[in-house]
Formats: sequence, C-alpha cells, structure tokens
Amino acid sequence: MNTGELYMDVIGQFINGEIIRSTESRQFAKIDPSTGSEVAFVQEALESQIDSAISAAKIAQVKWALTPPAQRSTILLKAADLIELHNDELAQLETLDTGKPIFDTQRVDIAGGVSVIRYCASILMALDGEQIPVTGSMFAYTKREPLGVIAGIGAWNYPTQIAMWKLAPALAAGCAMVFKPSEVTPLGAMRLAEILVEAGLPRGLFNVVNGGAKVGRYLCEHPSIAKISFTGSIPTGKSVMALGASSSLKKITLELGGKSPLIIWSDADLSKAAEIAMMANFFSSGQVCTSGTRVFVHKSQQDSFIEKIKERVRNIKIGDPKNPITRFGPLVSQEQLERVMAFVASGKNEGARVVCGGERMQLEGFEKGYYMEPTVFSDCHDQMRIVKEEIFGPVMSILTYESETELIARANNTEFGLAAGVVTQNLNVAHRLAASIESGIFWINTWGQVPPQLPVSGQKQSGYGQENGIDALREFTKLKSVLIQTGEFTSTFA
Ligand code: NAD
Repeated sequence: MNTGELYMDVIGQFINGEIIRSTESRQFAKIDPSTGSEVAFVQEALESQIDSAISAAKIAQVKWALTPPAQRSTILLKAADLIELHNDELAQLETLDTGKPIFDTQRVDIAGGVSVIRYCASILMALDGEQIPVTGSMFAYTKREPLGVIAGIGAWNYPTQIAMWKLAPALAAGCAMVFKPSEVTPLGAMRLAEILVEAGLPRGLFNVVNGGAKVGRYLCEHPSIAKISFTGSIPTGKSVMALGASSSLKKITLELGGKSPLIIWSDADLSKAAEIAMMANFFSSGQVCTSGTRVFVHKSQQDSFIEKIKERVRNIKIGDPKNPITRFGPLVSQEQLERVMAFVASGKNEGARVVCGGERMQLEGFEKGYYMEPTVFSDCHDQMRIVKEEIFGPVMSILTYESETELIARANNTEFGLAAGVVTQNLNVAHRLAASIESGIFWINTWGQVPPQLPVSGQKQSGYGQENGIDALREFTKLKSVLIQTGEFTSTFA
C-alpha cells in the first residue's frame, strides 16, 4: 500500500507483518474531512483476527524480550530513520486522514513521533534495576521485565503520532503491541506498520486492528493483554479502565481530555500573549487535548487583548489542507463539526458575546468539507458549558479576573488537569502559578511543546500514567525482586 494506491482501497488489518483482509468483515468508509468524500473502505477486525494479532504479538514478544537491548535499540533507531525518510508520504496520509494542514503534518506530526522513537531507543539500555543490601549475608536486586503484549488504543487528533508515542516505549521496554487506531483516522498506523517491518522490526511486534468501540472493548477484555495504553475521552477512558479490570487485572495508562487555563498576567506583552493564545486555541483547528481554551485575561486588559486576537483571527489562512499555505483546515468529521457547532450555539444561548466566528463555513470547491470559523467568545463566565466542558474544536473563551487568589481558585475549579500556562514577565508570578495550578504540564511564556524527554501525564480526570521521559518505559515493565542468601539458611524446624 502507498498513498497513491490508497484511494478507494480496502484497508484490512496488519497482522504478523502482513495485510490481512476478509470477505466476512463489516466495512466502513474513510472520509476525507476537507471534501466529505469517501477515500477508502476499512474492514472492522473480526474477533478471530484480533486473536491472531495477539497470538502473533505474544510469540514475537518472547523473542524480542531476549534480544540484547543494544540490538533492540539499533532496530528502533533504523525504524526511526526509515519513518523520517517517509515523512512526506506519512504527512500526506495524515492530512487526508485528519484534515490537518500539510504545513503542520510535514513539520510536526510525524517528526514528533520519530523523536520519541529515537529517545526511547537511546535510553532503553538505562532501564536497570537496583542492588539492595539486606543483612550481612543477604542481599537483593530488582530487575525490570517487559509486561508482555500491550493494547494501544488511539484518538483521531494525532493518529500517527499517538501510534508512535505508544509503540516507542512499549517496544523499547521489550513488549509487543496490538494497536487500534480511531475508526475515524485509520490510514497512518497501517502504513507505519509496513515501514517498521521494512526497517527490520520482527514481524508480529507491531500489529494494527481496525474498528471502533467493539474492537476496542474486545482488546480491553482480552486475557492475554497485559496493559492498555489509551488516548481518548474521559467517558471512554473510564469504560476502558472498568473493562481492563474485568477479565484480568490489566495495567492502564490513560491520556484523556482537558479544558486548560491559559493565564495572561497583567504585565504580559499582549502581542506575544495573543500569539500564544492563537496557538493554544487554533492549532490543528483546536482539536488538541492540551488546548488552552479558558483564556484568563486581567480585567484591565480585556479590550486590548480582544483587538489583538480579532486581528490575528482575520488573517488565518483557511482552506485546502493539502495546500502548503493553509494554516487552518476542517474539523475531522461531520459528527465533530455538529458537536462543536452545538457548543457554539450553547455559548450564544448562555449569553457569551461572539467576538468573531461562530458559523459553519462553505469554502468554494470544499462545500461538503467540515469547515467552521475560528470562534472567539468574550463575556464568558465559569458556569457556561463552553467554559466547563471540553469542546475539542476552534473555540476560545475569554474570561476576566481581578486578583491572583480568585484566578487560582477559578482556574482549578474543573474536573480536568491536563495542561496550563501563563504569559508574564514576572518570574515570581510564573513559578507561584506553576505551583498552584493543578495540571500535568505548565507552560511559561510558551504553549504546546512536549519534547520526548519530558514526562507528560494528566492530573485529576485528565488521566494518569506517564508518556515520554524514562518513566514511560518503566511503565511497560514489571519489577521483580530477587533475594540471595550467601550464608547459612536457618529454619525454625531444624
Ligand atoms: P474516544 O474516547 O471517542 O475514542 C478513543 C478511542 O477509543 C478510539 O480508538 C475509539 O474507537 C476507542 N473506543 C471507543 N469506545 C471504546 C470502548 N468502549 N472500549 C475501548 N475502546 C473504545 O476519543 P476521540 O473522540 O477519538 O478523541 C478525542 C478525545 O481524546 C478528546 O477528549 C481528547 O482530549 C482526547 N485526547 C487526549 C490526549 C492526551 O494525551 N491526553 C491526546 C489526544 C486526544
């Protein structure tokens, strides 16, 4: 399969190094979000196919775990090189899958995954245990053993990058993976799986099964899965957790939603603050888990800040995501567009003021695409749905504050705790807020970067378990303790 062949292709499963199709599978259409037209058909994995994928992964994992770490590292580094070589092809697939501008997918999406594979490949040999003195003649050591077969379940907003973020620490730690991409965006993971095998990754180590909730549930309940690494919404995350505990006690990492506060402190350079707020709200058409959608501006600065945002929103280049000058594409699906437009309607009904946007868009040549205007609301208050709930679309809510105490209480008054940030010139304020705001990551004078060496994890209902950083690898291992008696063994029965 390559990008050219994909159009109207029938996408099957990737099991044990091969694409498998079945005449018995139910098929669903893969839609291009920019045109609303079908570009491929996807087969939902049969239970027997999921079983085969898990069996292949089990066999491959046993050998992989015995492969010397240096060799595992070499293979993963080769895989990263080959993925990088295919950057443009994978970026095109990602744009077709998600509707994200090619400008971003070529620079961010694939590169962000490759950097995590390289990071995990480079540190896997540092995955060691400890030697622990016990008494004079006894000592102990701990060793880290791979968990086994991991189920990776991904969301649709960064489909290929999410696949790489999950497979990199899992494979580096000696595990194998069966990955289920979102049914909305199945293209990238399949091509990625092929490239990994071309790079020399043993067959069966990374398998892809397609489908929606039904396939996801089957994976979560499967007794041969040791851990689920999940990215998606909070309600699904809760269900994954319950299912994962039902048949066997699986380990779980949950990367869930957010409603992150972006604080513009009263001393902020408002032009810089507006640029940061634009990135925090409109990058990827706002379909980013860490979007900073609650923008807190000091009351005295609200009007000037709004003017700067209006000017920038007017200049966003909206259009065909395949055109390199486009910076803002459609939403991912008709369903998501309707969901986001319903939030916009609720904002209007609850009395928020539309500063700009607020309507669907009909672009010439892309009339059936899922486009909407980048939308900014002011005069928001904390009880509005647009302020309380995750929208996952290009909708910014501007809130005003007057004191630091009030600001901290309101910023933390949410079930979410994924990200937060401040724009300020005052270091004391920046670090006070970093310490007070409940979030897994806190950005000071920037927004959105997640370098591979930096652990990321949600707080509160935004999830738990680490992605990136060395702890991400540790989470794919189990710790074994070994106790050694070098002296006499004493028994109470002797
Ligand atoms: P979703 O929860 O609807 O689906 C996520 C995945 O779970 C999909 O692959 C889906 O098919 C599968 N699934 C659905 N029901 C299931 C079930 N009962 N059992 C097992 N699997 C099931 O989420 P989405 O709409 O694809 O993605 C958007 C959400 O993802 C947003 O809430 C966003 O914040 C979150 N997200 C979080 C992060 C993060 O790192 N924290 C990153 C990206 C997206």
